[in-house]
Amino acid sequence: MSAYKVTDAHGLIKLDAMENPYTWPEDIKTAWLDVLKDCELNRYPDPEARQLTQTIKRLNQIADRFDVLLGNGSDEIIQLLLMALPSTASVLAPAPGFVMYKQLSDCLGLNYLGIPLLADSFALDLPAMLAAIERHQPAVIFLAYPNNPTGNLFSAASILEIIKAAKGLVVIDEAYAPFADASFIDALNDHDNLLVMRTVSKLGLAGLRLGYLIGHPLIIEQLHKIRLPYNINSLTQLSADFALSNKALFDRQTQAICAERAIVLKQLNELPGITAYPSAANFILFRTPKGKATDIFLSIKQQGVLIKNMSAQGGLLSDCLRVTIGKPEENKAFLTALMNAK
Ligand code: PMP
Repeated sequence: MSAYKVTDAHGLIKLDAMENPYTWPEDIKTAWLDVLKDCELNRYPDPEARQLTQTIKRLNQIADRFDVLLGNGSDEIIQLLLMALPSTASVLAPAPGFVMYKQLSDCLGLNYLGIPLLADSFALDLPAMLAAIERHQPAVIFLAYPNNPTGNLFSAASILEIIKAAKGLVVIDEAYAPFADASFIDALNDHDNLLVMRTVSKLGLAGLRLGYLIGHPLIIEQLHKIRLPYNINSLTQLSADFALSNKALFDRQTQAICAERAIVLKQLNELPGITAYPSAANFILFRTPKGKATDIFLSIKQQGVLIKNMSAQGGLLSDCLRVTIGKPEENKAFLTALMNAK
């Protein structure tokens, strides 16, 4: 195996990791520091992060009959879900998908199955997914909604068929929900094997490391058994609770990102040799001329902009690069660098 590598972005315009490019106005920063001032760092954090959990439940309008598990990023929640499985279990997700599903499954020696999406549309291959479910009886299925790295929303009807066919758990990973007008939170009412996972990272709080999983109390209870007691530190608990109470600020920022996404998509598709795919997330996947992706990626980097080279993953991602939507001037710098790429 190799470790999950994060490229050094020092001195570069950073459009590689789906971060929100905007920070906070001074008055909000001052109010936040006021909250942190009284934090008792000599004490362990609240092991159940009760106040933050209540805030998350309220903001997402989650009914009392569901429980919420917090994680040190949704990465930790993926790890907890997989650690809860017997070593003989299979884990299934569409391919290409978020790399940590496979990375963590491999670490734990689980049987990971990636079912290829349909070429060009990146839609779910429903018959192939259903056949794999029937054959391998996966203990967990991950469906990122919207999907990373393709950016599209899978058909909700296909997802519902998968949830009904699955005897194991189905995790709808809504990491990019702030940029997509779609969610399976309401479907929790109808399916006990359904879990919805979210993160505050893409919203604008990637530095806090906070994800959450919503689902049936009997399932969440099992995950609490293997979670470390103080996995959400005091500063994250206070900061996230403060930040989420200022939701209007994030709503404005995500709206600006979505407006920029439309501009970048259009401009990418006007470039000769480039095919950019529609996205419901805060990034865009695009295809470059055959065999050119790595040269273009390196040339863009040399011009001061860091994006993500997906081409090495092969398969449907051959010749593909992925750019995160940044501030208007950052996106302009990226498009100029791409146009000048050698
Ligand atoms: N799910 C998906 C689909 C992602 O793309 C990411 C981050 N790239 C995560 C989960 C993990 O997010 P975090 O650990 O920051 O909450």
